[in-house]
Amino acid sequence: MRYISTRGDAPILNFEDVVITGLASDGGLYVPDTIPTFPKEQLSYLATLSYQDLALEIMSPFIGGEIPRKDIKDIIDRSYSTFRSEQITPIQMLGNGEVVLELFHGPTLAFKDIALQFLGNLLEYVLNKREQKVAIVGATSGDTGSAAIYGCQGCKHVDLFMLHPYGKVSDVQRKQMTTILDKNIHNIAIDGNFDDCQTIIKELFQSPKFIDNRPLAAVNSINWARIMAQIVYYFYAVFRLNGVDEPVSFAVPTGNFGDIYAGYMAKKMGLPIKKLIVATNKNDILNRFFTSNDYSKKGVTPSLSPSMDIQISSNFERLLFDLYKQDGKAIAELMKEFKQSGSLKVSDDILQESQKIFSSASCDDMETKKIIAEVYNENDYLVDPHTATAIYAARQFDEGDNMIVVLATAHPAKFPDVVEEVTGIHPELPEHLSDLFDREEKYIKIDNNVEDVKSYISKSYW
Ligand SMILES: *Cc1c(COP(=O)(O)O)cnc(C)c1O
Repeated sequence: MRYISTRGDAPILNFEDVVITGLASDGGLYVPDTIPTFPKEQLSYLATLSYQDLALEIMSPFIGGEIPRKDIKDIIDRSYSTFRSEQITPIQMLGNGEVVLELFHGPTLAFKDIALQFLGNLLEYVLNKREQKVAIVGATSGDTGSAAIYGCQGCKHVDLFMLHPYGKVSDVQRKQMTTILDKNIHNIAIDGNFDDCQTIIKELFQSPKFIDNRPLAAVNSINWARIMAQIVYYFYAVFRLNGVDEPVSFAVPTGNFGDIYAGYMAKKMGLPIKKLIVATNKNDILNRFFTSNDYSKKGVTPSLSPSMDIQISSNFERLLFDLYKQDGKAIAELMKEFKQSGSLKVSDDILQESQKIFSSASCDDMETKKIIAEVYNENDYLVDPHTATAIYAARQFDEGDNMIVVLATAHPAKFPDVVEEVTGIHPELPEHLSDLFDREEKYIKIDNNVEDVKSYISKSYW
């Protein structure tokens, strides 16, 4: 498979190169140049497969012949052996007909495990074959960091340096990162906020030569392999629910647009999906786009669903590229306009095209709390605040005539304070984390200063 940049002016790469590359050199994101499709007859066959075997069929066309099938299968099997549910992404039917797809049964209790367990194993495989080592650097406000750390722990070809803002992630989130003591995992607490961490990472990529002959790599959600791994559960959910007879819709708690873009890919590949419903919190740039063609940057407001607190959505560019029929020049222009003015608009045709597929709603903190309480009172079922935003959005569009699947992106025990505040129930951590608060922690605190971070990294990798 060939991968091209959304801005049309970067080298074409194969799958393995895309896995270890971050942004394209023209500032764009890599996407496959053609999207594989499955005809209806084949869908009936796919519907009979286990999660792992389905993943193999969905991912193989994107990998082309670059990795032998039996090796892909082995990577997939190992990646999902760490999940607590045999179905990997089981479905919960709530009493009132609401359907929830639980994506939080991986080691760190957020849906990011589904992609990052796989990406860790895949990176190790590719780097081992090439006899190459990389240093991965990243910034996290919580969920990505722990999922990446669990994905890369013990990898022999990867040193992972993860920056988090000191004192500004929840205790559960911090502990999940800092109690992994493998020598290739380096937690750095920056005396600053999440934006400061991201700024440092950007500066590192601008002068990547500070560590001798070790390329820098990224595992944030612009990595194509993460999108690819997320396509699988859309298929799996539809197959568990009704085979392929009637289209279903999905409501997705959205931040960087990676998760819901995977749903868009699934639809393009032939899965009968009616609507994709974007749920945002009050950081609503995507909701403003889909309702009124207003994609304009505002400051980030902290919310009860912190993993969706974003100013702009990186993967949105991949959707634009597709809506503009892979016209890289047009996308480069749009993104230039956005960079200069902090805002972009598409033509009316493109907006209407996008509205045929996407709906959206924005859920503030008060509504989030209300939903958590209601769902608990009605169904005796606890949801985390991210999932609550999608239940809210699903209810805005529920006309009773077709099924809407809500993606549950985090376990309620990951955000225990708000859940307990509104339901009176303290959500318990699953057993493998029940002693989390007794475990030893390892991290280093560094000033908000790129030179200090560089000097720490250059003396710490092995
Ligand atoms: C990352 C995250 C999201 C947002 O997903 P995107 O792919 O960035 O849109 C939603 N919920 C939770 C719990 C997350 O960790």
